[in-house]
Amino acid sequence: MLDNIKKDFPVLNQIVNDEPLVYLDNAATTQKPLSVLSVLIDYYKTDNANVHRGVHTLAERATAKYEAAREKVRAFINAKSTKEVLFTRGTTTSLNWVTRFADQILSATDEIVISIMEHHSNIVPWQQVAEATGATLKFVYLKDGMLDMDDLRAKITDKTKFVSIAHVSNVLGVINPIKEIAEIAHTHGAYMVVDGAQSTPHMKVDVQELDADFFAFSGHKMMGPTGIGVLYGKEELLMQMNPVEFGGEMIDFVYESHSTWTELPWKFEAGTPNIAGAIALGAAIDYINSLGLDEIHQHERELIDYVMPKLLEIDGLTLYGPVDNAKRSGVIAFNLEGLHPHDVATALDMEGVAVRAGHHCAQPLLHYLDTPATARASFYVYNTKEDCDKLVEAILKTKEFFS
Ligand code: PMP
Repeated sequence: MLDNIKKDFPVLNQIVNDEPLVYLDNAATTQKPLSVLSVLIDYYKTDNANVHRGVHTLAERATAKYEAAREKVRAFINAKSTKEVLFTRGTTTSLNWVTRFADQILSATDEIVISIMEHHSNIVPWQQVAEATGATLKFVYLKDGMLDMDDLRAKITDKTKFVSIAHVSNVLGVINPIKEIAEIAHTHGAYMVVDGAQSTPHMKVDVQELDADFFAFSGHKMMGPTGIGVLYGKEELLMQMNPVEFGGEMIDFVYESHSTWTELPWKFEAGTPNIAGAIALGAAIDYINSLGLDEIHQHERELIDYVMPKLLEIDGLTLYGPVDNAKRSGVIAFNLEGLHPHDVATALDMEGVAVRAGHHCAQPLLHYLDTPATARASFYVYNTKEDCDKLVEAILKTKEFFS
């Protein structure tokens, strides 16, 4: 069934450099099915109005659809309540918001633990908090292309107040044992923050099962539009957390001298939100649910199991990440001996194969891996074994061309 879904994605049906497009840049952003595109158009064609404030029919319809999208997100990640689901611009904004909470509670004797495989959006905001509060930022390093759990256990102590780790690395592709890490964090009284940008689109996420205190993800990496994302936070923490932005929508009363805040989740959503984006994210969730997250995960597993042995056979190809494929999601970072990854990506593009090259917003990781850049192929549910074959073929052609 999943082999037949490319037709739902108009953008995939095109010729690039005289070759049919093989889109393998899904860790950067994913393509959108027709159902998501038509929800966007329909919203602007029939319902467009500002939310929450109006009593006219369109405003009520827009509000109902916006809040229905929040409920879809709640169910998707199994949050207890829609009060725990905040719409943001994306993972970066969500993680920045968490660090505003950290600003509120950290002091100079406290510690923050993150890992060396984090995306810049889960590093830089913590550096800022550390600078502002005097808290110490500690990194957990790797073993066999995965988080070194012994190092993690050693780094998390009673001084640790926040542990913030990616569920899935956007370079190594490794799936981190968040539930286990959250248990360790909680034993020491620390909050567990999860960067779910690369997991939420690809596997079942249950924030209660993981026992995450905060969980961040982006709509555009899961077939939704850009400019919409989510921050999940446990209700009792969001109650303690100050709003990040101030203005309309988030207030209860405004006096000349001060103001009071409205209730969750709207306390955090100042100004006119990305209404169409949220509704379209809801449509993306409907589409993902119609395929089944277990089926999506299984499909990507099969692609990885199919392509990895073929890649391993290529002489001069270095692969990064876990050796055990079972620990890997659909992200494969690689380098071809003697070639700059930008040249590799350009050569692959000439074959119609879209991959990314660069530091993937993970400079500390690449420095740790002792490489300035890598190429990266990343799969999603609409990719096929033919796409895998095309990738391998294009890499072999590239090798031949440059040799
Ligand atoms: N974390 C990870 C692991 C990511 O892969 C990305 C996107 N590349 C982000 C955070 C940031 O997501 P966004 O740009 O959508 O805010």
